[in-house]
Amino acid sequence: MKKTDRDQMDFATRVIHVGGEPDKETGAIMPPIYQTSTYVQSSPGKHKGYEYTRSHNPTRTRLEECIASLENAKHSLVTASGLSAEMLIMHAIPAGSTVICGDDVYGGTYRLFTTVFNSIHNFIFVNTTDIKLLEKTLKEHKAALLWLESPTNPLLKITDITKACAIAKKTKTKVVVDNTFMSPYFQNPLDLGADIVLHSMTKYINGHSDVIGGALMLNDADMYKKLWVLQNSIGPSQSPFDSWLVLRGIKTLAIRMEAHQKNAMKIAAWLEKHPKVERVVYPGLKSHPQHSIAKKQMKGFGGMITFFLKGDIKKCNKFLSTVKLFSLAESLGGVESLIEHPAIMTHASLPKKTREAIGLTDNLIRLSVGIENVEDLINDLEVAFAKV
Ligand SMILES: *Cc1c(COP(=O)(O)O)cnc(C)c1O
Repeated sequence: MKKTDRDQMDFATRVIHVGGEPDKETGAIMPPIYQTSTYVQSSPGKHKGYEYTRSHNPTRTRLEECIASLENAKHSLVTASGLSAEMLIMHAIPAGSTVICGDDVYGGTYRLFTTVFNSIHNFIFVNTTDIKLLEKTLKEHKAALLWLESPTNPLLKITDITKACAIAKKTKTKVVVDNTFMSPYFQNPLDLGADIVLHSMTKYINGHSDVIGGALMLNDADMYKKLWVLQNSIGPSQSPFDSWLVLRGIKTLAIRMEAHQKNAMKIAAWLEKHPKVERVVYPGLKSHPQHSIAKKQMKGFGGMITFFLKGDIKKCNKFLSTVKLFSLAESLGGVESLIEHPAIMTHASLPKKTREAIGLTDNLIRLSVGIENVEDLINDLEVAFAKV
């Protein structure tokens, strides 16, 4: 992918203009949805760069240009889901590889690694926020891959990405960072030394809770080629319509992220003072154990808050079924606020013992703070607190 002058522009301009160029043929200011499976050739093998939509599609190409630019990457690949992007990486490394993975990753990632790819690779789960432990684990095992999520889901633990990448380089271990929670607006792991950045575009990048999508961004041309061949051979390419929806949603990514963060900061500070709250975890709070690393490697603190309610699972259930503006649902990163109970919902695939070992207890509640009026959101939570 060629870097253009547009790649030098501010993020808020790139979300709109990279890949968002008017249609050359008609002048249509909005990109066409190339809703086609195949492309006519003038003679066998002679075509305009497009043969079949599983391999390439012009609407998807536009989205790939845009998201590559947002992560300061040379290459990107848009996939049908975040998990299928993860699958491609798992197929790109040699069978029998060792993968060192954070011990507090997205539940679906954990399930994919422990129930699907565990028959092909060896997975070691460690607390990657502990750099000394990480270094020891990297030295002990010849890992092909280090898989980081920072902040993690749902405990919002932060790994020093620069340090982790530097020690992984010593053992020639490639680093993948799942950057879904921060979006490219608040964190750019390739600039911190990572080899591949992964996003579930289902979340902040699309932002409107109406698409499933994934993305990989990277600078290494050979690895990109390998991943593209795998995508083409296995088939998890995103549909043209879904790519178009993401191109539409991504235009407001900069202002949405600012709004998410502003609301989240206010709500986190309010929760921290609430008598019915045991503890609040939000990277923007001074009380966050890795607040200083967050300030160093992130440009903002995002829209996700985790808090522990004083009381048991019954009280949690009451709280979760009383809120109205916060919808009780899995997923995150949309304009509307969501609330969920990780132990029962998103992280049910983790055994209870594993959950408790990492601090994912039954009184933990996760908020995906939307961009509604913050007073309305606080009122909604206050009504629910009054009931428990
Ligand atoms: C949702 C999510 C995924 C999986 O993405 P899908 O688009 O649902 O397949 C991976 N990582 C994180 C951090 C997520 O939140």
